[in-house]
Amino acid sequence: MRPRIALLSRNAALYSTQRLIEAARQRGCTVRVLDPLRCALKVAPGAFELRYRGRPLPRIDAVIPRIGHSVTFHGTAVLRQMELMGVATPSTADAILSARDKLRCHQILAAEGIDLPVTAFGDSPDDTPVLLDLVGPAPHVVKLNEGTQGSGVVLARDAAASRSVIEAFRGLYASFLVQEFVAEARGTDLRCFVVGDEVVAAMQRRAAPGDFRANLHRGGKAALARLDAAEQAVAVRAAKRLGLGVAGVDLLRSNRGPLLLEVNSSPGLEGIEAASGLDIAGRILDHVLGLVAVSRRRVARPRRVAAG
Ligand code: ADP
Ligand code: MG
Repeated sequence: MRPRIALLSRNAALYSTQRLIEAARQRGCTVRVLDPLRCALKVAPGAFELRYRGRPLPRIDAVIPRIGHSVTFHGTAVLRQMELMGVATPSTADAILSARDKLRCHQILAAEGIDLPVTAFGDSPDDTPVLLDLVGPAPHVVKLNEGTQGSGVVLARDAAASRSVIEAFRGLYASFLVQEFVAEARGTDLRCFVVGDEVVAAMQRRAAPGDFRANLHRGGKAALARLDAAEQAVAVRAAKRLGLGVAGVDLLRSNRGPLLLEVNSSPGLEGIEAASGLDIAGRILDHVLGLVAVSRRRVARPRRVAAG
Protein backbone atom coordinates (compact mmCIF):
# COMPACT_ATOMS: atom_id res chain seq x y z
CA MET A 1 0.00 0.00 0.00
CA ARG A 2 1.42 3.36 -1.05
CA PRO A 3 2.10 5.51 2.00
CA ARG A 4 -0.11 8.58 2.04
CA ILE A 5 1.63 11.66 3.40
CA ALA A 6 0.12 15.04 4.23
CA LEU A 7 2.11 18.24 4.59
CA LEU A 8 0.44 20.63 6.97
CA SER A 9 1.45 23.93 5.41
CA ARG A 10 -0.16 27.17 4.30
CA ASN A 11 2.04 27.58 1.27
CA ALA A 12 2.72 24.80 -1.21
CA ALA A 13 5.03 27.06 -3.22
CA LEU A 14 7.70 27.39 -0.50
CA TYR A 15 11.09 25.80 -1.19
CA SER A 16 10.84 23.53 1.87
CA THR A 17 7.33 22.33 1.00
CA GLN A 18 8.34 21.70 -2.62
CA ARG A 19 11.38 19.71 -1.57
CA LEU A 20 9.34 17.55 0.81
CA ILE A 21 6.76 16.88 -1.93
CA GLU A 22 9.58 15.89 -4.30
CA ALA A 23 11.21 13.59 -1.74
CA ALA A 24 7.86 11.96 -0.92
CA ARG A 25 7.10 11.30 -4.61
CA GLN A 26 10.59 9.87 -5.19
CA ARG A 27 9.78 7.34 -2.46
CA GLY A 28 6.50 6.28 -4.06
CA CYS A 29 4.25 8.14 -1.62
CA THR A 30 1.04 9.91 -2.38
CA VAL A 31 1.41 13.42 -1.00
CA ARG A 32 -0.89 16.36 -0.52
CA VAL A 33 -0.56 19.74 1.08
CA LEU A 34 -3.22 20.68 3.62
CA ASP A 35 -3.80 24.29 4.64
CA PRO A 36 -4.57 24.12 8.37
CA LEU A 37 -6.95 27.06 7.97
CA ARG A 38 -9.16 24.96 5.66
CA CYS A 39 -9.53 22.05 8.08
CA ALA A 40 -12.76 21.73 10.06
CA LEU A 41 -12.65 19.48 13.09
CA LYS A 42 -15.29 17.50 14.91
CA VAL A 43 -14.34 16.73 18.50
CA ALA A 44 -16.37 13.97 20.13
CA PRO A 45 -15.41 10.82 22.06
CA GLY A 46 -14.61 8.05 19.60
CA ALA A 47 -15.78 10.17 16.67
CA PHE A 48 -13.02 12.60 15.76
CA GLU A 49 -13.47 13.92 12.26
CA LEU A 50 -11.51 16.14 9.93
CA ARG A 51 -12.96 17.71 6.80
CA TYR A 52 -10.71 19.41 4.33
CA ARG A 53 -12.30 22.12 2.22
CA GLY A 54 -15.62 20.66 3.32
CA ARG A 55 -14.83 17.06 2.32
CA PRO A 56 -13.92 14.08 4.52
CA LEU A 57 -10.19 13.51 4.39
CA PRO A 58 -9.14 10.15 2.89
CA ARG A 59 -6.78 7.92 4.89
CA ILE A 60 -3.48 9.63 5.80
CA ASP A 61 -0.56 7.58 7.18
CA ALA A 62 1.67 10.42 8.28
CA VAL A 63 1.66 14.17 8.50
CA ILE A 64 4.69 16.44 8.29
CA PRO A 65 3.89 19.66 10.15
CA ARG A 66 5.25 22.88 8.63
CA ILE A 67 3.39 25.31 10.81
CA GLY A 68 4.27 28.98 10.44
CA HIS A 69 4.29 31.34 13.42
CA SER A 70 1.18 33.17 12.24
CA VAL A 71 -0.95 30.00 12.40
CA THR A 72 0.46 28.30 15.49
CA PHE A 73 -2.93 27.93 17.18
CA HIS A 74 -4.84 26.50 14.19
CA GLY A 75 -1.91 24.46 12.96
CA THR A 76 -1.32 22.71 16.27
CA ALA A 77 -5.07 22.17 16.76
CA VAL A 78 -5.28 20.34 13.42
CA LEU A 79 -2.10 18.40 14.10
CA ARG A 80 -3.40 17.30 17.53
CA GLN A 81 -6.65 16.16 15.91
CA MET A 82 -4.64 14.09 13.41
CA GLU A 83 -2.61 12.55 16.24
CA LEU A 84 -5.87 11.61 17.98
CA MET A 85 -7.06 10.02 14.72
CA GLY A 86 -3.95 7.81 14.60
CA VAL A 87 -1.88 9.67 12.00
CA ALA A 88 1.89 9.36 12.56
CA THR A 89 3.92 12.57 12.93
CA PRO A 90 7.60 13.23 13.57
CA SER A 91 6.69 16.08 15.96
CA THR A 92 3.64 16.37 18.17
CA ALA A 93 1.47 19.46 18.54
CA ASP A 94 2.54 19.83 22.17
CA ALA A 95 6.21 19.64 21.20
CA ILE A 96 5.72 22.41 18.63
CA LEU A 97 3.99 24.58 21.23
CA SER A 98 6.81 24.02 23.73
CA ALA A 99 9.45 24.98 21.16
CA ARG A 100 7.64 28.08 20.00
CA ASP A 101 7.42 29.55 23.48
CA LYS A 102 11.08 30.44 24.20
CA LEU A 103 10.55 30.69 27.96
CA ARG A 104 8.82 27.32 28.19
CA CYS A 105 11.48 25.76 25.96
CA HIS A 106 14.26 27.18 28.16
CA GLN A 107 12.56 25.98 31.35
CA ILE A 108 12.13 22.44 30.04
CA LEU A 109 15.68 22.20 28.68
CA ALA A 110 17.39 23.90 31.64
CA ALA A 111 15.65 21.37 33.89
CA GLU A 112 17.28 18.72 31.71
CA GLY A 113 20.69 20.21 32.51
CA ILE A 114 21.16 21.81 29.09
CA ASP A 115 23.09 25.08 29.36
CA LEU A 116 21.69 28.29 27.90
CA PRO A 117 22.31 32.04 28.13
CA VAL A 118 21.25 33.16 31.64
CA THR A 119 17.61 34.14 31.14
CA ALA A 120 15.15 36.11 33.27
CA PHE A 121 11.42 36.70 32.95
CA GLY A 122 8.96 38.76 34.94
CA ASP A 123 5.85 40.83 34.53
CA SER A 124 5.79 43.78 36.91
CA PRO A 125 7.52 47.11 36.12
CA ASP A 126 8.58 47.02 39.77
CA ASP A 127 10.69 43.96 38.95
CA THR A 128 12.77 45.51 36.17
CA PRO A 129 15.80 46.02 38.48
CA VAL A 130 15.28 42.46 39.74
CA LEU A 131 15.42 41.06 36.18
CA LEU A 132 18.66 42.94 35.50
CA ASP A 133 20.08 41.72 38.78
CA LEU A 134 19.11 38.10 37.99
CA VAL A 135 20.82 38.24 34.59
CA GLY A 136 23.96 40.06 35.71
CA PRO A 137 25.82 43.05 34.26
CA ALA A 138 25.08 44.51 30.79
CA PRO A 139 25.26 44.09 27.85
CA HIS A 140 21.90 42.27 27.73
CA VAL A 141 19.77 40.82 24.98
CA VAL A 142 16.10 41.66 25.39
CA LYS A 143 13.88 39.59 23.09
CA LEU A 144 10.24 38.93 22.38
CA ASN A 145 9.27 35.56 23.80
CA GLU A 146 7.60 34.46 20.58
CA GLY A 147 9.62 36.48 18.10
CA THR A 148 11.08 34.93 14.97
CA GLN A 149 13.65 35.63 12.25
CA GLY A 150 15.54 37.97 14.53
CA SER A 151 12.89 40.65 14.76
CA GLY A 152 12.27 41.76 18.32
CA VAL A 153 15.79 40.73 19.43
CA VAL A 154 17.58 43.79 20.81
CA LEU A 155 21.11 44.23 22.13
CA ALA A 156 21.17 46.68 25.05
CA ARG A 157 24.73 47.79 25.75
CA ASP A 158 24.15 49.22 29.23
CA ALA A 159 21.57 48.95 32.00
CA ALA A 160 19.85 52.20 30.96
CA ALA A 161 19.32 50.82 27.44
CA SER A 162 17.98 47.56 28.90
CA ARG A 163 15.47 49.47 31.02
CA SER A 164 14.29 51.49 28.00
CA VAL A 165 13.78 48.41 25.82
CA ILE A 166 11.99 46.61 28.63
CA GLU A 167 9.68 49.61 29.10
CA ALA A 168 8.97 49.72 25.38
CA PHE A 169 8.09 46.00 25.22
CA ARG A 170 5.91 46.33 28.33
CA GLY A 171 4.14 49.32 26.77
CA LEU A 172 3.24 47.04 23.85
CA TYR A 173 2.00 44.30 26.24
CA ALA A 174 4.58 41.97 24.70
CA SER A 175 6.05 38.99 26.57
CA PHE A 176 9.84 39.24 26.59
CA LEU A 177 12.98 37.65 28.02
CA VAL A 178 16.11 39.34 29.32
CA GLN A 179 19.31 37.43 28.62
CA GLU A 180 23.00 37.49 29.16
CA PHE A 181 24.70 38.66 25.94
CA VAL A 182 27.10 35.97 24.74
CA ALA A 183 29.72 38.28 23.22
CA GLU A 184 32.24 35.56 22.40
CA ALA A 185 29.85 34.08 19.80
CA ARG A 186 30.82 37.18 17.77
CA GLY A 187 27.59 37.38 15.79
CA THR A 188 27.59 33.71 14.84
CA ASP A 189 25.38 30.81 15.81
CA LEU A 190 25.09 27.15 14.85
CA ARG A 191 22.00 25.71 13.22
CA CYS A 192 21.97 21.98 13.91
CA PHE A 193 19.44 20.15 11.79
CA VAL A 194 18.16 17.17 13.74
CA VAL A 195 16.20 14.32 12.16
CA GLY A 196 15.31 11.47 14.52
CA ASP A 197 18.30 10.75 16.76
CA GLU A 198 20.90 12.41 14.58
CA VAL A 199 22.25 15.79 13.50
CA VAL A 200 22.06 15.31 9.72
CA ALA A 201 23.74 18.63 8.87
CA ALA A 202 24.92 21.78 10.58
CA MET A 203 25.78 25.27 9.46
CA GLN A 204 27.36 28.26 11.06
CA ARG A 205 25.50 31.49 10.44
CA ARG A 206 27.30 34.80 10.60
CA ALA A 207 25.52 38.11 11.11
CA ALA A 208 25.75 40.82 8.49
CA PRO A 209 28.36 43.50 9.33
CA GLY A 210 27.11 45.77 12.12
CA ASP A 211 24.52 43.27 13.39
CA PHE A 212 24.77 40.66 16.15
CA ARG A 213 21.86 38.52 14.93
CA ALA A 214 22.91 35.64 12.72
CA ASN A 215 19.46 35.01 11.18
CA LEU A 216 19.58 34.46 7.42
CA HIS A 217 16.43 36.62 7.19
CA ARG A 218 18.50 39.49 8.63
CA GLY A 219 21.19 39.13 6.00
CA GLY A 220 23.30 36.52 7.83
CA LYS A 221 25.53 34.20 5.77
CA ALA A 222 25.72 30.44 6.20
CA ALA A 223 28.62 28.03 5.84
CA LEU A 224 28.90 24.33 6.52
CA ALA A 225 29.92 23.66 10.13
CA ARG A 226 31.56 20.73 11.87
CA LEU A 227 30.13 20.10 15.31
CA ASP A 228 32.07 18.58 18.15
CA ALA A 229 30.62 15.71 20.15
CA ALA A 230 29.23 17.97 22.89
CA GLU A 231 27.40 20.17 20.38
CA GLN A 232 25.88 17.17 18.62
CA ALA A 233 24.78 15.64 21.90
CA VAL A 234 23.09 18.86 23.10
CA ALA A 235 21.23 19.30 19.80
CA VAL A 236 19.90 15.74 19.79
CA ARG A 237 18.98 15.82 23.49
CA ALA A 238 17.09 19.11 23.12
CA ALA A 239 15.01 17.89 20.17
CA LYS A 240 14.31 14.59 21.87
CA ARG A 241 13.30 16.12 25.19
CA LEU A 242 10.86 18.47 23.48
CA GLY A 243 9.45 15.63 21.35
CA LEU A 244 10.52 16.96 17.95
CA GLY A 245 11.55 14.38 15.33
CA VAL A 246 12.59 17.20 13.00
CA ALA A 247 14.14 20.30 14.52
CA GLY A 248 16.51 23.15 13.87
CA VAL A 249 18.42 23.48 17.13
CA ASP A 250 20.34 26.76 17.42
CA LEU A 251 23.42 26.92 19.62
CA LEU A 252 25.88 29.64 20.56
CA ARG A 253 29.55 28.75 20.99
CA SER A 254 30.58 30.21 24.34
CA ASN A 255 33.56 30.06 26.67
CA ARG A 256 31.65 27.62 28.86
CA GLY A 257 30.61 25.33 26.01
CA PRO A 258 27.56 25.17 23.71
CA LEU A 259 24.56 27.22 24.86
CA LEU A 260 21.10 26.45 23.61
CA LEU A 261 19.49 29.48 21.99
CA GLU A 262 16.26 28.19 20.51
CA VAL A 263 14.64 25.21 18.86
CA ASN A 264 12.77 25.58 15.59
CA SER A 265 10.01 23.08 14.91
CA SER A 266 9.65 23.95 11.20
CA PRO A 267 13.26 24.60 10.20
CA GLY A 268 13.75 25.88 6.65
CA LEU A 269 15.46 23.53 4.18
CA GLU A 270 16.84 26.01 1.67
CA GLY A 271 19.77 27.35 3.68
CA ILE A 272 20.84 24.00 5.11
CA GLU A 273 20.56 22.11 1.80
CA ALA A 274 22.57 24.85 0.05
CA ALA A 275 25.25 24.92 2.77
CA SER A 276 25.59 21.15 3.09
CA GLY A 277 24.76 19.96 -0.42
CA LEU A 278 22.74 17.20 1.24
CA ASP A 279 19.25 15.93 0.53
CA ILE A 280 17.74 16.88 3.90
CA ALA A 281 14.17 16.55 2.59
CA GLY A 282 15.01 12.92 1.75
CA ARG A 283 16.29 12.34 5.28
CA ILE A 284 13.03 13.70 6.71
CA LEU A 285 10.95 11.45 4.46
CA ASP A 286 13.01 8.38 5.36
CA HIS A 287 12.43 9.15 9.04
CA VAL A 288 8.68 9.65 8.53
CA LEU A 289 8.37 6.43 6.50
CA GLY A 290 10.10 4.65 9.38
CA LEU A 291 7.34 5.92 11.69
CA VAL A 292 4.68 4.72 9.24
CA ALA A 293 6.25 1.25 9.14
CA VAL A 294 6.25 1.08 12.94
CA SER A 295 2.61 2.14 13.24
CA ARG A 296 1.56 -0.33 10.53
CA ARG A 297 3.26 -3.17 12.42
CA ARG A 298 1.47 -2.07 15.57
CA VAL A 299 -1.92 -2.21 13.81
CA ALA A 300 -1.12 -5.57 12.19
CA ARG A 301 -0.10 -7.09 15.51
CA PRO A 302 -2.62 -5.91 18.14
CA ARG A 303 -1.54 -5.93 21.75
CA ARG A 304 -2.18 -9.28 23.41
CA VAL A 305 -4.43 -9.13 26.42
CA ALA A 306 -3.47 -11.49 29.25
CA ALA A 307 -6.01 -14.28 29.61
CA GLY A 308 -7.80 -14.99 32.91
P1 ADP B 1 14.65 34.51 16.70
O1 ADP B 1 13.64 33.52 17.16
O2 ADP B 1 14.03 35.80 16.29
O3 ADP B 1 15.58 33.91 15.68
P2 ADP B 1 16.87 34.25 18.58
O4 ADP B 1 16.75 34.11 20.05
O5 ADP B 1 17.22 33.02 17.83
O6 ADP B 1 15.51 34.86 18.03
O7 ADP B 1 17.93 35.38 18.28
C1 ADP B 1 18.28 35.78 16.96
C2 ADP B 1 19.80 35.87 16.80
O8 ADP B 1 20.34 36.85 17.71
C3 ADP B 1 20.50 34.58 17.15
O9 ADP B 1 20.57 33.74 16.02
C4 ADP B 1 21.88 35.05 17.62
O10 ADP B 1 22.73 35.26 16.52
C5 ADP B 1 21.57 36.39 18.28
N1 ADP B 1 21.36 36.24 19.73
C6 ADP B 1 20.18 35.98 20.35
N2 ADP B 1 20.33 35.90 21.69
C7 ADP B 1 21.63 36.10 21.94
C8 ADP B 1 22.42 36.15 23.15
N3 ADP B 1 21.87 35.96 24.34
N4 ADP B 1 23.76 36.40 23.01
C9 ADP B 1 24.32 36.58 21.80
N5 ADP B 1 23.63 36.55 20.64
C10 ADP B 1 22.31 36.33 20.68
MG1 MG C 1 16.62 32.21 15.96
